[in-house]
Amino acid sequence: MSDVVMNDFRAEPAAIRAEMLEAARDVFESGWYVLGKQVGAFEAAWARACGTTHAVGVGNGMDAIEIGLRALGVGAGDEVVTTPMTAFATVLAILRAGATPVLADIDPATGLLDLASVERSLGPATKAVMPVHLYGRIGDMPAWAAFCAERKLHLVEDCAQAHLAQWQGGVAGTFGSVGAYSFYPTKNLGAIGDAGALITGSAELAAHAARLRNYGQSERYHHPEVGMNSRLDELQAALLLVKLKWLEEFTTRRRRIAGQLAEGIRNSLVRPLAAPVAPENHVHHLFVVLSADRERLQAHLREKGVQALIHYPVPMHHQKPCADLRRDPRGLAHTERHAAQCLSLPCHAQMDEAQVARVIDAVNGFR
Ligand SMILES: *Cc1c(COP(=O)(O)O)cnc(C)c1O
Repeated sequence: MSDVVMNDFRAEPAAIRAEMLEAARDVFESGWYVLGKQVGAFEAAWARACGTTHAVGVGNGMDAIEIGLRALGVGAGDEVVTTPMTAFATVLAILRAGATPVLADIDPATGLLDLASVERSLGPATKAVMPVHLYGRIGDMPAWAAFCAERKLHLVEDCAQAHLAQWQGGVAGTFGSVGAYSFYPTKNLGAIGDAGALITGSAELAAHAARLRNYGQSERYHHPEVGMNSRLDELQAALLLVKLKWLEEFTTRRRRIAGQLAEGIRNSLVRPLAAPVAPENHVHHLFVVLSADRERLQAHLREKGVQALIHYPVPMHHQKPCADLRRDPRGLAHTERHAAQCLSLPCHAQMDEAQVARVIDAVNGFR
């Protein structure tokens, strides 16, 4: 019996494979490989799916954040308050934009950035707040939008783990100035390589971002500002267009599996994170449990043929480039505890019922 793994791309339906190969062939035969019709079509489709007007395809999720911040004019001398419980790319993108990250603590129930801690972490140089929709979960974004509007701060959402997660009908990335998405292969909507996009309701911001991704070029061979090379290529855009048609079905499947895991796991040593307020608030990029005995739990699962990974074992304030960053004056105790206890169990759309049952049995058999 093969292991239950965190992701299993080769188990995707044959129909999706066939259609992707067809789409790839079309791109080859078109003879046009960078920033063309496929990118335009994917940008339009992704903006529509998010319920907004503009999407700008870029090289990856990290660049989507950096370009979003730069398009907003956030850079040297500016601070961006974010969470230490995230992928390093979140913080690296802020640094690459020339700005300075400030770290606020999380809400221990959800793992998401805590508004009260963000408030304590603000300073005169704060220009933006960047919540991360961690594990596929989204919080009360109208509250965040109001908080930022009152203080004239930009709200930038890191949506890399939360494709089309919703709060009261609004989609992740549409509550503030910019939303940044990654289409790294393991994300809920994944390319066959690196890809990303930022979304915005502002035509002006979108046009600025489109210049920044392409050397800061306004018209051919004219460069009024220092941009970068972060273009989404035609092949990835064409493949993403195919995969986008399956996203809703795959999200439904993830929700079902997450429900089964939450229901089935009965072990006093293992506690799943809080359930979402409503099903649409969570797209279950990762199914995370907490355990005071996390390393032994992970080893036990491995022995039972169940892969489990830690997101994330080293919070940002313990990363060397972040050692001197300002943080909530009350400290980051909830983040510390979460990082020491969290474990992600397999929860992806290609799992079958038997695999879900194996995960539940393996967790419940932990003593
Ligand atoms: C994956 C991820 C990113 C970065 O995306 P890439 O496409 O890998 O650059 C940023 N933030 C979070 C929370 C992520 O999970």
